[in-house]
Amino acid sequence: LVFCQALPKIELHAHLNGSIRDATLRELAAQLNGTSISMPDVQLRTQQASRPLGECFKLFDVIHQITTTCAAITRIAREVLADMAADNVVYAELRTTPKSLPRHGMTKESYMSAVFQGIDDYYAASSRAHDIQVRLLLSIDRRQSTDEALETARLAVQLRDKGVVGLDLSGNPSVGQWETWVPALDFARQHGLRVAVHAGEVYNPEETAAILAWAPDRLGHMCCLDASLEQQLLLSRVPIELCLSSNVITGSVPSYQDHHFAALHNGGHSVVLCTDDSGVFATTLSREYAIAASAFTLSDEQLRQLALTAADHVFLEPGERQVLRARMEQLLGGSS
Ligand code: IMP
Repeated sequence: LVFCQALPKIELHAHLNGSIRDATLRELAAQLNGTSISMPDVQLRTQQASRPLGECFKLFDVIHQITTTCAAITRIAREVLADMAADNVVYAELRTTPKSLPRHGMTKESYMSAVFQGIDDYYAASSRAHDIQVRLLLSIDRRQSTDEALETARLAVQLRDKGVVGLDLSGNPSVGQWETWVPALDFARQHGLRVAVHAGEVYNPEETAAILAWAPDRLGHMCCLDASLEQQLLLSRVPIELCLSSNVITGSVPSYQDHHFAALHNGGHSVVLCTDDSGVFATTLSREYAIAASAFTLSDEQLRQLALTAADHVFLEPGERQVLRARMEQLLGGSS
């Protein structure tokens, strides 16, 4: 773990609200005393070796009932950046679902302003200001309609100069139909944004085939595939964001040893280790690297290569991507 902590790393799959600190969630919940949130719901969030996907989505709903103010969102964004920087993450693409909560006076725009404020606050307060570079992906939740998804895609395009580089499709994989969100993803792509899609978190071969045919810029998870989909995935060469703890804790993959990381990595397919929800799964990116090192017997040099090649899959423009890769090469030279 010490080696993995010292390694400069790139985080490409982290959901903002899923990365909330345990202490912050409890504190915000306590402030809501007397409302519909009961502390036992929040206790759910203590470290668990197993939490089925359905339970995770109930937990996200609880978190969302607690994080309804712009101040809370700003705080979470600031703390998530601080935690990542402390873990030696030098570049992060943070994703979040812009929320419209009329009851709380929140619009998708004000939600995003709160996120940007959190990022600004982090830089204003940190002496490590330039250690971590951050970009954003706006998430479409699979519960959303075509119109809601399009609204998020338009907002993402509007916010490009604020660091939004792409769109993400996420949410409960057992909910909704892929076709619903295609117009929004097409819109984003036509406007020069990049697109990451959660796929194969549960076994749904028709949907996974349709997603592969659409060819996202990156895929998340890809745990539950049949032989034909595996073949299509390898041919597609689309990089995959892999979240080991998340997949094992939710039961999408039976154990670390059985995780598809090994087959993909050994087969030369591009993979990037990520945390998914560092709060919910009680992890850090260093820990994910350490789990991979132990489960798949990776050498220090292989870990360095994993960290370095993540730079090739970021959603930055080519020039900025090259600058990041050069920075990673320089930092990795000094991490041994
Ligand atoms: P938020 O978008 O910042 O509110 O982060 C939490 C949201 O991310 C959840 O409500 C889900 O929509 C999404 N999410 C987090 N983890 C997962 C996952 O493992 N699979 C699919 N969606 C996820």
